[in-house]
Amino acid sequence: MTDILEIAKKDGRWTECPKCSEIVITEKLRQNLWVCQHCGYHFRVNAPTRIEMTCDEGSFVESMPPVRDQEETAGSHDEAITCGRARIMGRECAIGVMDFFHKGGSMGAAVGEAIVSLMQAASRKRLPIVMFCASGGVRVQEGIWGLFQMLRTVHARTRTSDTPMITVFTDPTTGGVTASFAALADVMIAEPGSRIGFAGPRVIEATMSCTLPEDFQDASRLVKAGLIDMIVHRHKMRETLAFFLEWFSRD
Ligand SMILES: [Zn+2]
Repeated sequence: MTDILEIAKKDGRWTECPKCSEIVITEKLRQNLWVCQHCGYHFRVNAPTRIEMTCDEGSFVESMPPVRDQEETAGSHDEAITCGRARIMGRECAIGVMDFFHKGGSMGAAVGEAIVSLMQAASRKRLPIVMFCASGGVRVQEGIWGLFQMLRTVHARTRTSDTPMITVFTDPTTGGVTASFAALADVMIAEPGSRIGFAGPRVIEATMSCTLPEDFQDASRLVKAGLIDMIVHRHKMRETLAFFLEWFSRD
């Protein structure tokens, strides 16, 4: 029996929930927007899946990335963020979706450029911004250029602060992304169970020689501390975003 389960897990038909260890049929999981039916665990999803589950069908139009990742093979424009325009329950918005599956969603020069372009385009077109964040932080391989993206995105956000922005923190959002543009939104939402923070708990424990509480950097704790505004279940995300987009469109 264990062998059959292992084979089914390997070929993708079944998926084990990392939280409750239940074995779930992958197709059922997909239909449930990648939320475990047993414990409500929100699986990490890539940018195309996120766009599909959030935007109105066929409404997403990708803006071409201004800078290509030099490390990628020629002709590919894959990056840790996908940006464009879309509608959510009929409301127009500019949308950026970070992808943790691409180099840990890290923010290098190309990602920084894409975020700045998105903010500027949204400001010109007077569209509110929806930003789905999922990142390990700054792309350390790019050294100072990686770190520089924090300053750059914060500057762009300050220059376009009249454009409403909604950040959705997904699991995990850490490092230089939390510490820069992501935390400068007008509305800050998190998915349940997301880890949101700056340095990782193990680093903090080692540096401070202390034991951290179990829910440290968990969205539920951050909502109590006032860092984020609300936690929204993935099934309610579209209508919550549509509510704020509608609200922002009123003069
Ligand atoms: Zn589960």
